[in-house]
Amino acid sequence: MTGDAVVKYLLARAADPVAHARWAEQARSTGWCSCPVRLSGSTARVDAGTGEVTSAFTTADEPDGTLLKACGQRRATACPSCSVVYRSDAYQLVAAGLRGGKGVAEEVATRPRVFVTLTAPSFGPVHSRRERAGVARPCHTGRPCPHGARIACDRIHPPGDPALGTPLCSACFDYRATVLWNASATELWRRTTIAVRRRLAARLGVPSRQVSRHARLSYLKVVEYQARGVVHVHAVVRLDGPDGGPPVGMDVTDLAVAVTAAARAASAPWPPGALIGAAARWGDQLDVRPIGGADATDRTVAGYIAKYATKSTDGLGRLDHRLHPSQLATLDLPEHLARLVRTAWELGGEDVLSGLRLRAWAHTLGFRGHWLTKSRAYSTTFGALRAARVLHAAQRRGEEVDPESIAVKDWRFVSRGWANSGDALLAATAAAHRVEARRHARQDRHDTRTQREENHGQAAAHP
Ligand SMILES: [Zn+2]
Ligand SMILES: [Zn+2]
Ligand SMILES: [Zn+2]
Repeated sequence: MTGDAVVKYLLARAADPVAHARWAEQARSTGWCSCPVRLSGSTARVDAGTGEVTSAFTTADEPDGTLLKACGQRRATACPSCSVVYRSDAYQLVAAGLRGGKGVAEEVATRPRVFVTLTAPSFGPVHSRRERAGVARPCHTGRPCPHGARIACDRIHPPGDPALGTPLCSACFDYRATVLWNASATELWRRTTIAVRRRLAARLGVPSRQVSRHARLSYLKVVEYQARGVVHVHAVVRLDGPDGGPPVGMDVTDLAVAVTAAARAASAPWPPGALIGAAARWGDQLDVRPIGGADATDRTVAGYIAKYATKSTDGLGRLDHRLHPSQLATLDLPEHLARLVRTAWELGGEDVLSGLRLRAWAHTLGFRGHWLTKSRAYSTTFGALRAARVLHAAQRRGEEVDPESIAVKDWRFVSRGWANSGDALLAATAAAHRVEARRHARQDRHDTRTQREENHGQAAAHP
């Protein structure tokens, strides 16, 4: 649509208030998704006892004959509105495992819990921000490299500098190992959790296979990219007793020691034919801190993980989809990331590595796992949170949801995205308004809290 056509269309929408109200209601129910799925079809509710139809819905009566469903995408670059919902669900998921709620017992707050950050080893010197005793330091001091380049950079890189994470000498950087490490990260994490259980068993003085009789380990982890194109892992790890009660004879220090030792020792064999040494391991930069202290509260940890759960591979969403290297030219990717994509593609063509399907995962630089995973016992699920939201919305609309009735659905996919650019514009405007309203509400809550704390402080000072 041209600009004029969009204006004409908006006027036409506004001219039919009833249809427009119903359209807006549908659009609002998608949370002003930027790319909704359009469906046509019907749902009927049938009484389980009598077989009578108690209510029916058909899209034939809806604007454009379709029903809109939110796209539900995780990445902020793909759909700002849906990623806000995803982030909020991720927050609830983490928080429920830390302080209870959403069907999780509040006693989890008293269990040993640690926040863990695991990174990859070095695959070659890259531009980075360095600090010593809080003072920013130059990137790299000089050292000759075998390719004749002097590995030195005396700049103090500001945050967000595009140079950060790029190699000082690209010939020194091991692209092959980087991609294969990304491909091994999920297996390395799995082996690490097994190693933690072994360490806990040793601490308890029981055989490894009996550890589940004494303690239950649960976790939630997210995977995120560092600027150098390598994934790293943030995880919440919790220790319960075998029946969900408190673990006997172990505290948060025991858990922290076990996780640290396990991460230092864990290894995952490289895929056969990788020809790059013995096994994939974590790097030296390892951080394990108890949750509940001042620098890792339930809120900060949940907020931190939720934020990372909505990030895209390159920060701009250029690598959100599968791609062929021939598409790289149009993506305007930094050369370092483009080279990692090409390397993954090349490795995907090697017979000995075919099991890794690296061509399908070239856009994720070799990483093949899920962005957010959790063990069953950690807390609730995304599915349960979504179901609760649907039920809540139905109740707010005043609909009765009878658990005894059965829904009979008949849906067909019509298209993805808004029907036209006029609707897309309306939705984007509403979405922007909502983000702004949320920001104000957050600021108000913050101000109220600060005011309350100040009042409290004054009351304490003048009893
Ligand atoms: Zn969406
Ligand atoms: Zn530098
Ligand atoms: Zn070099």
